[in-house]
Amino acid sequence: SALLIDGKKIAEDIQNKLRDDIKTWSELHKRKPTLVAVLVGEDPASCKYIEKKMQAAEYVGIDSRTEKLHESVTEDELITKVVELNKDESVDGILVQLPVPQHISERNVCNAVDPTKDVDGFHIMNVGKLSLNMMTFVPCTVLAVIELLARTGIETFGKNVVICGRSKNIGLPLSMLLHSDARYELPGHEATVTLCHRHTPPEQLKVFTKTADIIISATGVVGLIKADMVKEGACVIDVGINRIKTQEGKVKLVGDVDFSAVREVAGHITPVPGGVGPVTVAMLMKNTFQAAMDRLKQ
Ligand code: NAD
Repeated sequence: SALLIDGKKIAEDIQNKLRDDIKTWSELHKRKPTLVAVLVGEDPASCKYIEKKMQAAEYVGIDSRTEKLHESVTEDELITKVVELNKDESVDGILVQLPVPQHISERNVCNAVDPTKDVDGFHIMNVGKLSLNMMTFVPCTVLAVIELLARTGIETFGKNVVICGRSKNIGLPLSMLLHSDARYELPGHEATVTLCHRHTPPEQLKVFTKTADIIISATGVVGLIKADMVKEGACVIDVGINRIKTQEGKVKLVGDVDFSAVREVAGHITPVPGGVGPVTVAMLMKNTFQAAMDRLKQ
């Protein structure tokens, strides 16, 4: 059965190293890196994610706070808040917790964040840079997947990677980084990437996944990846986070992968919870520290 990739442990290792580095940096510069999250409304999942981010920030020595705005805030008001944070010299990193309510354009909001403070890597300029394999802020979930593979010793060079999900915040940027070419600024991951989505016919999806050395699922579809779709020994990374009701009526978190069956065929597998999630938070801390270091160098 597959080796379990322990995201919680990997996140702890990353955060312990960051904690040391940030301590040294903060003593030298007489200030801490500062992260501000903007939260619109009170979506329970969003609140939970923000809480985790704030806890991690405190642990690694990043000053952080959450600006809470009412569900009914207008796009202009939200953007005004973001611009205020852009101008605030004491703020290094800004993130707007997604999703934002329907009446607000997510794209406009992401583009309002100063690209040098854009620790989520969602600004149009940073997305463009990533697609050109230039140095930039890369979305935290994408970095988390790369980090999990690297720390587990999973090679990507020349390998077949299948990504399920083409969202602009996860699947698409992940595909861009995994086929990155070392001739440019970013590290080259040099994989052959197949990007599947909701209109990939299931039988075709299986043809692709069967030949994949690495399968990454980021769809929010429970049970999408089944054991008969996985090549013996493949590495399976489950980005999905789905809340399902158990028979006892309790809420349980599961990924996209049929975990117990896939575990029998795969070589490596990430659990949900405790896989990609904690490492994503650690990567946000890394990006925020990077933003702080970059600002002092300017
Ligand atoms: P999204 O809804 O924006 O995108 C889902 C994608 O899945 C779409 O591109 C869609 O085409 C694709 N898809 C749907 N059905 C499919 C099918 N049958 N076969 C193949 N592809 C299919 O979601 P998102 O924001 O990209 O998030 C994806 C998942 O990752 C969600 O479960 C979300 O909760 C989770 N997530 C995890 C983290 C983390 O840190 N682990 C962070 C953010 C989001």
